[in-house]
Amino acid sequence: MKQRVHGVIRGAVQGVGFRPFVYRLALELGLDGWVNNSSQGVFFEAEGEPEALTTFLHRLQSDHPPRAFIQSFEHAVLDPSGASGFTIRPSDPSGEKTALVMPDIALCDECRSELFDPGNRRYRYPFVNCTNCGPRYSIITALPYDRPNTTMHGFTMCPACRREYDDPADRRFHAQPNACPACGPHIELWDAQGAAHGMHDEALTAAVSALAGGSILAVKGIGGFHLMADAGSEPAVRRLRERKHREEKPFALMAPSLGLINDLCEVDEEEERLLSAPEAPIVLLRRRKAQSLYVASNVAPHNPYFGIMVPYAPLHHLLLAGFGRPVVATSGNLSDEPLCTDEHEALRRLAGVADYFLVHNRPITRHVDDSIVRVSQGRAMMLRRARGYAPLPLRLPAPVPDTLAVGAHLKNTIALSRGRDLFVSQHLGDLETPEAFAAFRAETAQLQGLFDVHPSAVVSDSHPDYLSSTYAASRPGAHHRIQHHVAHVAACMVENDIAPPFLGVAWDGTGLGNDGSIWGGEFFVVRDGRFERRAHLRTFLLPGGDTAAREPRRSALGLLHAIAGDAAFTWEDLHPVAAFTPAERSTLRQMLDRRFHVPVTSSAGRLFDGVSALLGVRQRNTFEGQAAMELEWSARPALCEPYPLNITPPEPGSNALAETLIIDWEPLVRGIIADVREGIDTGVIAGRFHRTMAAAICQVARRLELERVALSGGCFQNALLSRWTAGMLSDAGFRVYMHQRIPPNDGGIAVGQIAAAAYQGMLKF
Ligand code: ZN
Ligand code: ZN
Ligand code: FE
Repeated sequence: MKQRVHGVIRGAVQGVGFRPFVYRLALELGLDGWVNNSSQGVFFEAEGEPEALTTFLHRLQSDHPPRAFIQSFEHAVLDPSGASGFTIRPSDPSGEKTALVMPDIALCDECRSELFDPGNRRYRYPFVNCTNCGPRYSIITALPYDRPNTTMHGFTMCPACRREYDDPADRRFHAQPNACPACGPHIELWDAQGAAHGMHDEALTAAVSALAGGSILAVKGIGGFHLMADAGSEPAVRRLRERKHREEKPFALMAPSLGLINDLCEVDEEEERLLSAPEAPIVLLRRRKAQSLYVASNVAPHNPYFGIMVPYAPLHHLLLAGFGRPVVATSGNLSDEPLCTDEHEALRRLAGVADYFLVHNRPITRHVDDSIVRVSQGRAMMLRRARGYAPLPLRLPAPVPDTLAVGAHLKNTIALSRGRDLFVSQHLGDLETPEAFAAFRAETAQLQGLFDVHPSAVVSDSHPDYLSSTYAASRPGAHHRIQHHVAHVAACMVENDIAPPFLGVAWDGTGLGNDGSIWGGEFFVVRDGRFERRAHLRTFLLPGGDTAAREPRRSALGLLHAIAGDAAFTWEDLHPVAAFTPAERSTLRQMLDRRFHVPVTSSAGRLFDGVSALLGVRQRNTFEGQAAMELEWSARPALCEPYPLNITPPEPGSNALAETLIIDWEPLVRGIIADVREGIDTGVIAGRFHRTMAAAICQVARRLELERVALSGGCFQNALLSRWTAGMLSDAGFRVYMHQRIPPNDGGIAVGQIAAAAYQGMLKF
């Protein structure tokens, strides 16, 4: 089936023959569509068969005119519009002439050559950059993007740098962070007391030895600090885990070369493109073997994937070239706190974690974490949008008044709209600590100034107790509240440009529902400016509320209690029941009987947790989502029969349009219990469970009879669920939409809040 790709290419792409290049390539591949220039970059749309489009996207990056340089390339796959022929459209002067803030761009090939060229004046200089690469968003303090408005304002260019900067023919013409060893920032290595142990190359050599000796190194990079350790050293990784209080959550890796990544992991064409793209995100890759010489088993315990990136700052290139093997490169923070950006602050906050600090004196304006991407069915899906992508905008279908959306609670981002531009902040983190909330407030104020947005309205989650919601309520102007799962669906709608009517599926951990219960297994029919909740999972009680998110066995007990009442407590042959002591069981029983601290939920995420516990996969999480992830990994994805399910009412009733469908998981859970008792292989049961959940979505879609289905919410980070749901829906003739540039998790909520408010007519000029 034909598809359309909408793309924006930013960078040195104007006046270098880029449009004719796109045109010729499209003709050669038999694609329809158009290309044009606007003040924001080169925009294109291309329609054709999926294979031709894939080739097109790859050749845009590999075969472009030599003088062009791509600093950012975002695209999304959309429905075809029926274009015929390919045209160069006239430049679009109507587009808002607003200066864009560019994201931070990974070191370019030319600068890398200079970095390793002994004859070059920037040989081994950790701050080499040019107009095509280097820091942007993380050093800018105000617009326009000129040196005085960056954290480079304190460095005066030497005559040689100045000549480059002033010469239109030079690669460093108006490169704002331009610098060299004579005039720019420099690095130092400090010990944990802040005493300097060398500068310049001496600092690098000492840092490499420290890593090799098993020390933990805090490294000041582009958007903040990393904590680095020798990935191959089990003791070093264990020390990092102990000091960071991080039990089993996987650590990201930075590997010196693509070749080494290929040895460790399976890398397809799209994954390789992402790894080496100017955005340089962490890419989740399936590892080849359980064991590796270069990566100790405690880097990502029980995990079939590694999150890997390549060096993107010149400092990383030097460090990894010296070390020669992969390092753990995890965020330089304490859990739930924002990334450290300042070296003195890092010394204080990371005392007791890092042995040495590799620091520099180019200040960082804002913390920008590494982005995380996974490729699913040949397409990239963003899991954390930050460095390399933030703060580039999405496009709204129609202009709206200036609006601020404050997101949810976990994995927070904020969004700002101006006209049709919808700016998305970098990942700001979980608003769990005073430090995180302070960073959220500071960033919210900063970004309004940077984008010159003066919000007349603010949009928040409908949960009144989220810190983001209380912040929104304290602001002047109109305040709109958007239900959490409506926001998820709206985020998927806006980034895929889906025109209603369609069915929006939000399968998620938890979010407050309109009826006061906790939602998370929801289906919305989106049409006529409304989101109608038309189906959901059967509800169950969640003993302990939020505690249940950390203890999957509680979700399991809720499920068992729903089908068997108090008798469930006697089923000691089942893992989750056995995981509680008799005393705990009697407390839980009283809680359930008295309905004390046991919220009602329709959450799909908690159902996944409960099944994980029933299968004995995991009773307690050491990090968010662990039980559901391990359930996914345990599944044998061979073709298998789904368990039975009930959807009620069973047949379309007389008043089909008014009824709400309930997916009753009882036959499924009973089937799983029977299989567990019979000793059926866990992988088989987990596989059948995933298939059942995909089938449930498919059955609801059939009943609601809408041609298009959008999948959103944290559950769709599960690659197996995504693949099977999308596959079954497509086979049944539905068109399926998944997230691409915006995360399916709560990182997409802010975008969805503005999109939902706009769609429901709440934002009026
Ligand atoms: Zn460069
Ligand atoms: Zn200089
Ligand atoms: Fe959510």
